[in-house]
Amino acid sequence: MMKTVHIISHSHWDREWYLPYEKHHMLLVELIDDVLELFETDPEFKSFYLDGQTIILDDYLAVRPQKKPLLEKHIQNGNLKIGPFYILQDAFLTSSESNVRNMLIGHRESKKWGSKVDIGYYPDTFGNVGQTPQLMKQLGFDIAAYGRGVKPTGFANKTTEEDNFVSSYSEMKWVGVDQSEIIGLLFANWYSNGNEVPVAEKEAKIFWDQKLKDAEAYASTDQLLFMNGCDHQPVQKDLSKAIEVANELYLDYNFVHSNFEDYMYQVMAELPEDLDTVKGELTSQETEGWYTLTNTASSRIYLKQENHQVSVLLEQIAEPLATMAYEVTGEYPHDQLDYAWKTYMQNHPHDSICGCSVDEVHAGMMTRFQNAKNVGEYVKDESMDKLTSHIKTAQAGMENAVPFVVFNTTGSKKDGVASISLDTEKIYFSEQFPTASYQEIKEAAAPNYKIVNASGKEVEAEIINEGPRFGYELPKDAFRRPYISRNITVQLPVDQMVSYSWDTYYLVPVNEETVHEENQESDKTDITLKNDWVSLEINSNGTISVTDLEQNRTYSNLLVFEDVGDIGNEYVFKQPNNEKPIYSLNKLVDAKVSKENTFFKELTLVHEMDIPVRADKQLEIEQQAVVEFRNRKAQRVKETKPLRIETTISLAKNSRHFSFSSTLHNEMKDHRLRVLFPTGIQTDVHYADSIFETVKRENKVSSAWTNPTNPQRAHRFINVRRDSHGMILAPQGIPEYEVISESDQQTIGLTLFRAVGEMGDWGYFPTPEAQCQGTYTFDYHLSFHGKDDVEKAYKEAIYSPIPLLIHQTDLHDGTMKSTEQFLSVDGESIAVTALKRNAGTNNPVTRFYNFTSTNSSYKLEMGSYKPVEATILEEEVQSHGNTQEVKPFEIKTHIWK
Ligand SMILES: [Zn+2]
Repeated sequence: MMKTVHIISHSHWDREWYLPYEKHHMLLVELIDDVLELFETDPEFKSFYLDGQTIILDDYLAVRPQKKPLLEKHIQNGNLKIGPFYILQDAFLTSSESNVRNMLIGHRESKKWGSKVDIGYYPDTFGNVGQTPQLMKQLGFDIAAYGRGVKPTGFANKTTEEDNFVSSYSEMKWVGVDQSEIIGLLFANWYSNGNEVPVAEKEAKIFWDQKLKDAEAYASTDQLLFMNGCDHQPVQKDLSKAIEVANELYLDYNFVHSNFEDYMYQVMAELPEDLDTVKGELTSQETEGWYTLTNTASSRIYLKQENHQVSVLLEQIAEPLATMAYEVTGEYPHDQLDYAWKTYMQNHPHDSICGCSVDEVHAGMMTRFQNAKNVGEYVKDESMDKLTSHIKTAQAGMENAVPFVVFNTTGSKKDGVASISLDTEKIYFSEQFPTASYQEIKEAAAPNYKIVNASGKEVEAEIINEGPRFGYELPKDAFRRPYISRNITVQLPVDQMVSYSWDTYYLVPVNEETVHEENQESDKTDITLKNDWVSLEINSNGTISVTDLEQNRTYSNLLVFEDVGDIGNEYVFKQPNNEKPIYSLNKLVDAKVSKENTFFKELTLVHEMDIPVRADKQLEIEQQAVVEFRNRKAQRVKETKPLRIETTISLAKNSRHFSFSSTLHNEMKDHRLRVLFPTGIQTDVHYADSIFETVKRENKVSSAWTNPTNPQRAHRFINVRRDSHGMILAPQGIPEYEVISESDQQTIGLTLFRAVGEMGDWGYFPTPEAQCQGTYTFDYHLSFHGKDDVEKAYKEAIYSPIPLLIHQTDLHDGTMKSTEQFLSVDGESIAVTALKRNAGTNNPVTRFYNFTSTNSSYKLEMGSYKPVEATILEEEVQSHGNTQEVKPFEIKTHIWK
């Protein structure tokens, strides 16, 4: 049978990378200009694929708005192939919801223009997540195409049943972690295998002889795929001629200027029975381990920390609050949230969030993060304002009280300490000159206060009078109102606050001189932490030991900092040959109780390590000479400086986890810092929070692996466990870790940061800002579990970054109760990732998934609303109904009517 050679024109468009955004952008304008012109002048040039991302259309129109009609024409007549996504995002370093929103927004944007290409397009993504098949199925896609993650062997090499991550063919079955199955298309010869096709007969013959052989080594059908394009590749203007020449040269092949729709249709019809199956996440597990690009997770750690904060703010604070506020306002800030999401997601392409571009790119990203954060905070504050103004706060006997409302915006019961800074005794500028007000409040005797709940019962709290401060109100119908007030900060412990709920409290002045006994002078020499569940001691070598009192099990020698050289680049960590790590053992220079009240205690530990200031001159030479990192001989210099790491460890009375916060000022270059938590547990596998998945990963590497490290990525937790017990480390925006196997036990190593001086990849691009000089704070939580409470511990870790929120209000009547639950969530094994409103109908939408590998039941209730099952695109699924059962790792979306 005659083979068909499908040539698909495209250009892989990294919006920013080795050039700053605007320089790549100007090149994009030229590319699209050329493509549009070619459509007008060459009828044989049939189609061009816009790299799977609709944002390119916005980018082009930002410069050439007058070309919109022409763009529309060529999209609608099928020349310009768009979608399905908004951007080409990194899958592992962006949250579960970010992965979905990229699909949702891409779908919506594509619809504005016409139809999209129904293919999961991941040409350059740094590994593929294990839920891709389920996400594709919910989108209605049968195929995902990707360039990384699987090792193609060619069908001359037979694969075995145990080979989960290799494939004989470029086409394969891909079974997701929930057992959804799709067809995977691997760009076995990369997404540039049909780039720059020669027109001259002689060169064309040489080109195609080789290229056809390469493709046929992997193709399982007679449909051969050739991608005519590469990174930022200009369009090939003489492609029609080149195709004509190829057809003349090879009579048993039919060369066509094709597109993904035609190719997919024909390849699906011919797929053989004996395709290999790959399972779960695809992270190049069967390769030698040097080019997984996982170390981008620790490059420019400041990006990851910002990304984490915005994700929490948009997904788990702003949207749930706006959804609840809709009940009283009838309005939802769809446009504002879309704008925030789009701004935020512009930081999600692989060269952006992975931190593997030049300095200017990442400086621009920080502005986008800040902008998205400001919109998110605005939506959050407005929503809380509107909600609290409808909550009945007026109560008999509370005439002098300052009411405030505590919110839990997570899908779980929450224990914790809530903090607020309240304004009392406001004196507006219109009443008195501010300086006089400032003095007046400063000199007046501060009243004593207590905190009472909505039923008038006094509750435990720490209340501190901070003195006068400036503030202002922005009324919706009048000019701004500045004031000076007395600032009172309040901390109160909250126990078992139910999901998506609020509670009203009051700051009440008390007449009696001293209602509260001064806290008993705490014993500052007792440098330990203890509550009903856990305890912590400091060891003489500067490590800590923690006891899980419920399990009566002690974990020793935790909290070791480890510093090594890094002569790699933004993509890959490479330790200098034969270098010994520097540890913080016996380097504790100070330990004290830094804060203590009746419900909270915090210790501060200071470690000081001498760290070489940078790599030697050899590194610069090797960078400039583009020596591959594996062949570098550079070492670190002998000169050292002290690295002072100040770590606070806190424990609330009602908490099962310790909160760590390590602050340091990095003046050293070319190094990597990790914090180590030896588990004392011997296992072959561990678990980590990934995209809608608790991924089970092998601790051992494959036989092909030559990289001495095995870095991995996690979102909310890493867990090493046995049947009876386990340890959970919950990093807050610190995604790279390694489970290190030594002396028959596993240690969790969390990479705090890597400091490197060059981008890496195809040339020499210096990146001084990737040395991460300056002050950094790293937050992480530590908890433990027994045999029966693994799910509970996972859930706590998943929700650990979301704080309890407090909003001050005034005394007023209202239609909403002072204590209320908006959405109740029952189900040990489910985590809610979204509570939002549907863009078309304003109906509430919830999304959750089963984070365990067992069937589970659940019950969600939202007032008088009733749930209807839907796809992630929020299209209703009629057949299922609300089953109240969730399969292992199943993702469910509900629309509430
Ligand atoms: Zn790329």
